[in-house]
Order: sequence, then C-alpha cells, then structure tokens
Amino acid sequence: MEICYVLDASAIINGFKINSNNNYTVPEITSEIKDLKSKLTFDMLIEEGNLIIQDVPNKYISSVNDVISMSGDILRLSMPDIKLISLACMLQDEGKDVKVISDDYTIQNTLKIMDIPYSGVMTEGIKGIYNWKKVCEGCKKEYDDDYPFDDCEICGSRIFKKRIRVNR
Ligand SMILES: [Zn+2]
Repeated sequence: MEICYVLDASAIINGFKINSNNNYTVPEITSEIKDLKSKLTFDMLIEEGNLIIQDVPNKYISSVNDVISMSGDILRLSMPDIKLISLACMLQDEGKDVKVISDDYTIQNTLKIMDIPYSGVMTEGIKGIYNWKKVCEGCKKEYDDDYPFDDCEICGSRIFKKRIRVNR
C-alpha cells in the first residue's frame, strides 16, 4: 500500500521532497507558512495536485486533545499542530498507511505516544552524512583524514580509518 504523507508547516519550510501525490495537510497550515519561498512551494504543490488540503471532523480532534492533556503537550501545540495530528488519526482510521513529516519535537512526541509513524526533514537530511577520521589504535588520538602517516605521532601505534557520523 502506498504511504500517505501528512505534512506540517516545517515539512514544507524545510523542503520535504515530494515524490507522490499522496500528501495531505490541514487548512490551518497556511497561517504558519510565512516566508515567500515556502509560500510559493506550497501554492505550487496545491496547483499541481500533489498536496491535498483536508479538514478533520471534531471527533478526531477531541481524541487527540485527550492524549495531549494527559501528556502535558497541550500547552505546547498550536491549533494547526493538533489538527495535523488529528488528520493522521483520521487517515489511519480510514485504513491508510500514514507517515507524518514534521520537525516539531512536540508533534513527534505526541505521535510517538499515539503510535503513529513520523519522520523529520532535517533529521532525515543528515542521515547518511559521514566523514572519515583516522584514529590511533593505541592512545585513540584522532587525526584528520589528511594526516599523512600510518603511525601515531604520540605513541607510535598504527592508525586506522573510521567512519564517523557528522552532526550539524
Ligand atoms: Zn597513539
């Protein structure tokens, strides 16, 4: 089954790559997209039919409200955020395979509690960015990749190459 993506404002602002036309969002999102570039992207997605704006019945909103009043996230979520999570619930209820795209920590936290799959754009973006570092076998001193020798200048042990994750 094809995955339905539910996009929040951060997904559009941070440039989520849209590869299908199974993308949904809520009408309230327009108030959260303020910069010109994101507005243009948003308008284009609507025009090309790749983003469906979908309102959500109240029953889904109240069940999300129940969850977030228990978790304490209710004070940190805006109305568009709550509607977005409700939309994901509604689509799941319709039997669809749903994934929410959001870089908002509070939204992600609520989705985790509700067992709804999610992913961030920024975090997705840094996945797979690795660098090589040279590390001494003996004293563990780290050298830059361009260190020209095979043994450590401190202890004389062998240096090996190690893949390291780059955090930005
Ligand atoms: Zn060493």
